[in-house]
Amino acid sequence: MVISEKMQPMVQNNSAIRAMFEEGRQMAEIYGAENVYDFSLGNPNVPAPECVKQAVIDILEQEDPVFVHGYMSNSGYPDVRKTVAEDLNKRFGTSFTEDNILMTVGAASGLNVILKTILNPGDEVIAFAPFFVEYNSYVKNYDGELVVISPNTEDFQPNLAELEAKITPKTKALIINTPNNPTGVVYSEETIKKMAEILCRKEKELGTDIILISDEPYRELVYDGAEVPFITKYYHNTVIGYSYSKSLSIPGERIGYLVIPDEMTDGKEVYQAAVIANRILGSVNAPSLFQRVIMRCIGQTSDISVYDKNRKLLYESLKEYGYECIKPEGAFYLFVKAPGGDEERFCAVCKKHHILVVPGSSFFCAGYVRIAYCVTYEQIQRSLPAFKAVMEEMRNSK
Ligand code: PLP
Repeated sequence: MVISEKMQPMVQNNSAIRAMFEEGRQMAEIYGAENVYDFSLGNPNVPAPECVKQAVIDILEQEDPVFVHGYMSNSGYPDVRKTVAEDLNKRFGTSFTEDNILMTVGAASGLNVILKTILNPGDEVIAFAPFFVEYNSYVKNYDGELVVISPNTEDFQPNLAELEAKITPKTKALIINTPNNPTGVVYSEETIKKMAEILCRKEKELGTDIILISDEPYRELVYDGAEVPFITKYYHNTVIGYSYSKSLSIPGERIGYLVIPDEMTDGKEVYQAAVIANRILGSVNAPSLFQRVIMRCIGQTSDISVYDKNRKLLYESLKEYGYECIKPEGAFYLFVKAPGGDEERFCAVCKKHHILVVPGSSFFCAGYVRIAYCVTYEQIQRSLPAFKAVMEEMRNSK
């Protein structure tokens, strides 16, 4: 077999995802795209703000093409990193410099860079279920072990008692994601403070460093005035991974950054090692043009109110039909309990009514499904009778 043993299960898993994709495409062909309600993908439907297009035009017209399309430091352009650092300082009262910011190829690459930088084979990385399924692959890339904390289905805040119990001398990192994919929950300040207390206590007790990796592609996607605590202010060994994929609706452009604070243990050395990891993982540097774009668009977001409007319509309608679901405060996902608890049956009945959703077990939380509402308002409106019919069918055929 040419394909490695490590890759073989990934290939099998990918076939399942591809099969779901393919099924959606076939359904659209048979029934017409407007009669298929695809809520399976987290691909922003709100266009990038005008500043993105303008920045691309201005850069191409005004800046030296040799410079714009050239290599730069593996950490990214110093002026871009400085702009990012200053924006964070202004918003969160921090004191970062360009030497704390490493430009990355989106959040996915940022996570890989930091995990490559810190993991030895067999090191444990903890994640709270439900979580973005790729964490498992990213940790395995560096021969780490993902340790899963069971979901707290009461309110989907992290299960801190289990966190404390599962920290061992091998625990190297904890990955959190708030606002959360797939629940839409924002971790409260109280939760973050308690989590930081546990990590500090365990670090002292075990004589180890536990790196809190905060994966934040949805930082700006919050509703009803929800506040997202800025994690470096609560815990010294924090690394932040950010992405512009969702906030500026540019996921295909692959741009984000890591924040590696000086106050973390060996902060300067970790930063230098991460720059090298970025290089040797083959990313080399974050896309040049889009580094320059985000510098010109700093502080801007796409129109988040579109998601808010979708959220309200979908959440309120589903509640009215009898679905159980936590009201999301952020991101663009609804995590809905499968009526009767059987997610497989629920997904099948949804499919029968042309609704495509992702089963909760893909996020290590069976019995739920994720509905991505980064779709048009019209799609949600058109899908509502189908959601109602699904609930009726689930109730009538237990
Ligand atoms: N982390 C989470 C929680 C996500 O939901 C996603 C994408 O959906 C990513 C990371 C990857 O984002 P990026 O496009 O920046 O690589």
